[in-house]
Amino acid sequence: MNIIVTGGAGFIGSAVIRHIINNTQDRVLNLDKLTYAGNLTSVASVSSSPRYQFVQADICDYQTVQKIFSDFQPDCIMHLAAESHVDRSIDGPAEFIQTNIVGTYNLLEVARHYWQQLESDKKAAFRFHHISTDEVFGDLGDTGALFTEETPYAPSSPYSASKASSDHLVQAWHRTYGLPIIMTNCSNNYGPFHFPEKLIPLVIINALHNKPLPIYGKGDQVRDWLYVEDHARALYSVLTTGAVGQTYNIGGHNEKTNLEVVETICDVLQSLVGKPKEHAHYRELITFVDDRPGHDLRYAIDASKIAADLNWLPTETFETGLEKTVQWYLDHQEWWQAIMDNTYAMDRLGLIKGK
Ligand code: NAD
Repeated sequence: MNIIVTGGAGFIGSAVIRHIINNTQDRVLNLDKLTYAGNLTSVASVSSSPRYQFVQADICDYQTVQKIFSDFQPDCIMHLAAESHVDRSIDGPAEFIQTNIVGTYNLLEVARHYWQQLESDKKAAFRFHHISTDEVFGDLGDTGALFTEETPYAPSSPYSASKASSDHLVQAWHRTYGLPIIMTNCSNNYGPFHFPEKLIPLVIINALHNKPLPIYGKGDQVRDWLYVEDHARALYSVLTTGAVGQTYNIGGHNEKTNLEVVETICDVLQSLVGKPKEHAHYRELITFVDDRPGHDLRYAIDASKIAADLNWLPTETFETGLEKTVQWYLDHQEWWQAIMDNTYAMDRLGLIKGK
């Protein structure tokens, strides 16, 4: 197959590309604008493959995307390009509206016109796979419920509202035009090549620098965590064996409070590298900061549909995946150090200072 992956220089998109090049005979075109979050070193291990190519482009640029479709002749598209950081969406929502909503609309229109002129067998096989988040479902509070594929949408942040909008557009293009779409909504991912502004890498890197480990509010927000390589495998399975028009929820069955996540990272670091320089234990670096406005208390995924229909289950537990992740950040300091040395991102957030 010829597969376009949008956002393939990002955290999850790069894991998807590594998975496809390493495990299949498919060809991949990585379409990415290379925003602050895009990093081609995340696909360096597969970029010399003759089945891989990169094109720097903005999904909002109709003519360029149209030309990419016409030159590459994709059999399907996996759409991951997005602005993805909730805190940034609160500081400045405009980019989120542009990329996540207008950009998805643009891709749908290019894909629809391309798909409409395909021969009948290729037309039937074409897939537009939209990758989304469980945050579109909003806050489960303390109800103990799980998100299913039927849970009504109730997004809270500008990020989740922009992703919810894109999900609705994708559903509408299926219902109105018959475009063969598939959707997935996934819980929080973690693992190698995660941009240092996100909770898990931020905590690992701050801990290694003896810096405070910031936790919003009391740290009692619950998230379900999935190892990124399990997600990449799930996405390929949905693309190739999922039913057209369907949505699949993807999760790791790993509900943890933010405080539990940070404490577990501290414990893993303590066992892998020994105690920090100025404290007896990494946990002493934990610092509680003002809560994020509109912060949802709990997200949790019911992933039984993808397990039953597509036989997909995560292979990593939170403990095994987190240990691998911490070890990866210890072994790849040059990857995150390069980002921190040249990016405005960390300074802008004031997260890591005086390195
Ligand atoms: P990321 O921020 O790491 O990567 C996003 C990528 O998209 C970057 O490479 C960036 O350069 C690219 N991009 C941004 N705007 C673009 C544009 N206008 N045109 C082309 N490329 C553009 O994000 P991620 O964490 O890898 O998330 C990927 C997708 O998965 C997103 O759609 C996100 O909503 C979804 N998702 C993420 C998580 C998670 O925990 N990270 C969970 C569920 C779903």
